[in-house]
Amino acid sequence: MDSAIREANDRMPGYDEARIAPRALATEAVHAGRDDLARQGLHAPPIDLSTTYPSYDSRGEAARIDAFATTGAEPDGPPVYGRLGNPTVARFETALARLEGTEAAVAFASGMAALSAVLLVRASMGLRHVVAVRPLYGCSDHLLTAGLLGSEVTWTDPAGIEEALRPDTGLVMVESPANPTLAELDLRAVAHACGSVPLLADNTFATPVLQRPAEQGARLVLHSATKYLGGHGDVMAGVVACDEEFAGRLRQVRFATGGVLHPLAGYLLLRGLSTLPVRVRAASATAAELAGRLAADPRVARVHYPRIGGAMIAFEVHGDPHEVIAGVDLITPAVSLGSVDTLIQHPASISHRIVDADDRRGAGVSDRLLRMSVGLEDVEDLWADLDAALERAQGATAGRGAPAAAVGH
Ligand SMILES: *Cc1c(COP(=O)(O)O)cnc(C)c1O
Repeated sequence: MDSAIREANDRMPGYDEARIAPRALATEAVHAGRDDLARQGLHAPPIDLSTTYPSYDSRGEAARIDAFATTGAEPDGPPVYGRLGNPTVARFETALARLEGTEAAVAFASGMAALSAVLLVRASMGLRHVVAVRPLYGCSDHLLTAGLLGSEVTWTDPAGIEEALRPDTGLVMVESPANPTLAELDLRAVAHACGSVPLLADNTFATPVLQRPAEQGARLVLHSATKYLGGHGDVMAGVVACDEEFAGRLRQVRFATGGVLHPLAGYLLLRGLSTLPVRVRAASATAAELAGRLAADPRVARVHYPRIGGAMIAFEVHGDPHEVIAGVDLITPAVSLGSVDTLIQHPASISHRIVDADDRRGAGVSDRLLRMSVGLEDVEDLWADLDAALERAQGATAGRGAPAAAVGH
């Protein structure tokens, strides 16, 4: 609970977050992180842009800073300084934790800042070795492979995780469905293989609407909140949902390294969460329909669509994938995903360009693969646009290929 809510709580008898009855996901999406507002006479959450907070009690402030240095718990009483925590951002963190079913969540300036903080927490404990399963988001792969934060990575498949663990292994990292192939993992089995080593599951693609990795044993759930949580292509953010103990360490790293989320971004993310279930379900229904049409189309060689559903489709064309990108009109040819509008990109050229070509291909990211993030447009309009782009790509290559092989994995 953030300190502003705690304060409001003290002033207003009858509000106690711990006493809120369990609520369905759609209800949490709209109400979590806002439960104190009505009693304060507010409807929209306030945006607190303060970087510092006045206090005439410097002894009390010293005690709060000491407590933060010991546990990383949110300071009791008024906030101290913007890098320690912000009430508007804390509302988003409270809401995301409730959606993911974790004790806490800690927000950062981007998904990569969130992952960096996790690696720094473990490295500061002398646990620099990471075991990871490909594919991962291109820059996550790069951060681990290049060892930019002093970590050392062992790449393995899910069956090899247990054997890859070492005494200095601080983290196991997976994505499911993975970016960009949409490959899925049995998170429960992976968590079991990790033993006492924390499993980090990047849940950016599934969102808590489709999958809650913490329930399956992941200690850390990472989001690029830039994607579905924000949902409108106008906020860059990252967040880690986890237990309070790890959250404390993440807040300490965030305080020391400064990758904080801006309060305006926190506000937009909280607003984004309220429509998350509706957006994800609507876009998933459209994506499932498009995946089916692509799978039946002779211009398409392969379609990957996750068993758990979702709004992401990956597919390989017989023609030139660059011509598909050049040929879309309604669909936006852009990297990123999770917005209200449909985006398409060529992972080998853009999102996974930074990964060594052999590693990329070894992870199933073929040079013909396209990744599409389906938005909220009408399915027929999207299909008409895709159809025209596929025709252009087909025309650029001689002859027709065989019908699509399969949907799924
Ligand atoms: C985009 C993305 C990231 C990185 O997030 P940023 O907000 O761009 O820093 C991490 N993981 C996945 C799966 C992503 O799609």
